[in-house]
Amino acid sequence: MKRYTIVEYTHDFLKCWLKEGGVFVDATVGNGHDTEFLCKGVGSTGKVIGFDVQEIAIANTRERLSRAGLVGRCQLILDGHQNLNQYVEKESVDGIVFNFGYLPGGDHSISTKKSTSIEAIQKGMEALKPGGIMSMCIYSGQDTGFEEKNSILDYLKTVDQRKYVIIMSEFYNRPNNPPIPVFIIKQ
Ligand code: SAM
Repeated sequence: MKRYTIVEYTHDFLKCWLKEGGVFVDATVGNGHDTEFLCKGVGSTGKVIGFDVQEIAIANTRERLSRAGLVGRCQLILDGHQNLNQYVEKESVDGIVFNFGYLPGGDHSISTKKSTSIEAIQKGMEALKPGGIMSMCIYSGQDTGFEEKNSILDYLKTVDQRKYVIIMSEFYNRPNNPPIPVFIIKQ
């Protein structure tokens, strides 16, 4: 039985958008779990573009994809997701996945930050095709604090509802600042 973690939940939602030949961005590759999921979903004719600021994350993801025989479907970029517009054309991708925070098993001080995260969300929304989806896993508390979560949620409130639908879910009966799944769908 599934534990129904935030990652499982967002993956289940994303399956409605994943298709053979699709183009997706993994904005925070980390250890490559989301990247592998996306590479499987876009099939042999699709493409995934992955970003991370840490060499260890890029290496871990490349290793995971190699083991799965999927490395040819993915372009891995050692750069911040706030620069994604330098690599990805406007209205060219079917979906973008953000899993904010720090690398599990890595240095907790190297984490996503409110200003670059919001810049990346804005550029990501421009990169989505009409009908495309962005998913986000937003964490708070402990080493992460609350600044990034609060800033992202404040920003999302200001997004034009005529251009984007934004859906936020809640792990309602879970204590201690549960992670927040958010989806943005471009109209
Ligand atoms: N999706 C990953 C997985 O499946 O294993 C987990 C991602 S982890 C929670 C967050 C990652 O974001 C870390 O690897 C961290 O290095 C990366 N990161 C931090 N700042 C970033 C930035 N500005 N651009 C891209 N990645 C960043």
